[in-house]
Amino acid sequence: MSSMNIILFGPPGSGKGTYSSKLSPILGIPHISTGDIFRAEIAKKSELGKKVEPLLKVGTLVDDKTVIEIIKSRLKEKDCKKGFIFDGFPRTLEQANEFQKIAKIDLVVNLVLEDDIILEKALARRICEKCGNIYNVADIKRKGIKMPPLLPKVVGKCDKCGGNLIQRKDDNEKIIMDRLNTYKKQTEPLLKYYKKEKLIKDVPVTMGPEGMVPLIHGVIKEHFKSK
Ligand code: ADP
Ligand code: ZN
Repeated sequence: MSSMNIILFGPPGSGKGTYSSKLSPILGIPHISTGDIFRAEIAKKSELGKKVEPLLKVGTLVDDKTVIEIIKSRLKEKDCKKGFIFDGFPRTLEQANEFQKIAKIDLVVNLVLEDDIILEKALARRICEKCGNIYNVADIKRKGIKMPPLLPKVVGKCDKCGGNLIQRKDDNEKIIMDRLNTYKKQTEPLLKYYKKEKLIKDVPVTMGPEGMVPLIHGVIKEHFKSK
């Protein structure tokens, strides 16, 4: 097997961040989230952080040039040699085109879920203000769908680092709907781009991470088995 260059694709709040962070140590490849990188820069109050903070606040996409630069420098790090899991990148056709000049994608795992669940999940998301670890207080039950809450051991505190759990500023109803619309307009069309090369595996989200992580892991193993 040469590389495992994977995109975890899906609407905002589909679980990309949670699943990627759990799959990363299992697969031995880094989890690269452009959203996490931006939030870390905002916390550091760096130049980049100051530039992107107002955009993230309202869910507007950061410009392609900035995103590509960040991805390029991140991929230069040693841990990316065997591959990576992208979460939140690429998000526009321009980003996908630019990326194709740097490296190839081996697999796109496309998470599929209904809009009403996306909204419910995103509103219930909590993240650690220190390390970004993700929790969720929603208990979602629909026909065929069972997604229990993902709670910390101690209320309001991160299991990993003890940091305070907060709601992301962009996780309110209006901004989630805006992000979802942006996703449908600018990001979802990317599926056509990868469909041409038959790299896409659709995975409906019907369970919590304890069910979804092994399921996605299985899809990935199956895909790379033959390589
Ligand atoms: P979600 O997938 O839940 O919307 P992310 O953490 O992936 O959240 O992204 C949060 C915000 O960071 C986005 O709304 C956007 O402003 C910015 N962002 C992240 N990744 C990209 C990207 N690849 N291109 C442009 N903007 C991005
Ligand atoms: Zn933490």
